[in-house]
Amino acid sequence: MAFSVTRNPNPRSDAEREAIIADPSFGTAFTDHMVKIDYVDGAWGEGRVLPYGPLTLDPAATVFHYGQEIFEGLKAYLHPDGSIATFRAPANGARFARSAERMGMAQLPVDLFVESLQALVSVDRAWVPSAPDTSLYLRPFMIATQVGLGVNAPSNSYSYLVIASPAGPYFKSGIKPVKVWLSTEYTRAAPGGTGEAKCGGNYAASFVAQQYATAQGCDQVVWLDAAEHRWVEEMGGMNLYFVYGSGPSARIVTPALTGSLLPGITRDSLLTIAGDLGYSAEEGKISTDEWRAGAESGELTEVFACGTAAGITPVGWAKGATGEFTIGDGTPGPITLQLREQLTGIQTGKLPDPHGWVSKIA
Ligand code: PLP
Repeated sequence: MAFSVTRNPNPRSDAEREAIIADPSFGTAFTDHMVKIDYVDGAWGEGRVLPYGPLTLDPAATVFHYGQEIFEGLKAYLHPDGSIATFRAPANGARFARSAERMGMAQLPVDLFVESLQALVSVDRAWVPSAPDTSLYLRPFMIATQVGLGVNAPSNSYSYLVIASPAGPYFKSGIKPVKVWLSTEYTRAAPGGTGEAKCGGNYAASFVAQQYATAQGCDQVVWLDAAEHRWVEEMGGMNLYFVYGSGPSARIVTPALTGSLLPGITRDSLLTIAGDLGYSAEEGKISTDEWRAGAESGELTEVFACGTAAGITPVGWAKGATGEFTIGDGTPGPITLQLREQLTGIQTGKLPDPHGWVSKIA
């Protein structure tokens, strides 16, 4: 689809943009444009690049009442050759379509999803930062716009949008291990629910647990299974990895996709990258008791979280209702750092891309 472009008549000045790019804080400043495609009468309309700005919506639009909303998150990186590239954008497009299906929403074709990113990044190219560990964070999302309070059927009209925000290193003071709270008070998702969809409601329901974790002196929540609060699922916005042993014989395990955790694209990529680096990498089942026993015996040497926003983040300590324990010596482990190096090297074009994950978009 060819996208029409309406230029922002009042874009930020070069100096304002440079100041934002020089010190971006995550998701607070946005580029001069956005993409919008409306779905009406069973069909997607024209793709438009518009000036970034507020939306006008009827107060009775479905999204406000029943939370029919989905989103994605991915990054565009400036490569050494001056091009701009995304990492596995079609995988985000496919996940967006699966989220739409789960939420009874219209599905955007994956090609159109990828084209929409290209359209926005081409127009807002000057917003892609160039310093190490920076990128342009892309946030595609879709809302239900049908007017009416009837609750028996999904909306028949939708708006798909993409906005973009320059992103700096997630941790300004360098890579810093986090302390996580093993949440037995709250449940993020249950079998048959919406846990594997990237829908706004999953996050709305998690804020109170994040507040609880913070009150316990922790940085993040670890969600456990809904039935027994025993099996590790994921974190608030990242998946988890467990490293047993060390050196070339290390075994790397991530919780299997049970339907109630988000199938992270970073998680999936790391299963492959860990294999490429010669480690045995697998999906499995890890209980909080095993986590604690492994950390205490030293068999479990490293734990890290992974996701688009923060990349790979070491987990130094875990705390729950029965107390706190340290993983390794609480500092980032060598395999965590090696995987991080390899992943970011591929994403930023500094290392070869043997799996064809990187695509130039501008
Ligand atoms: N888990 C949750 C709940 C998330 O919101 C995210 C971020 O999208 C992830 C895991 C990591 O997914 P990805 O690697 O695709 O960013």
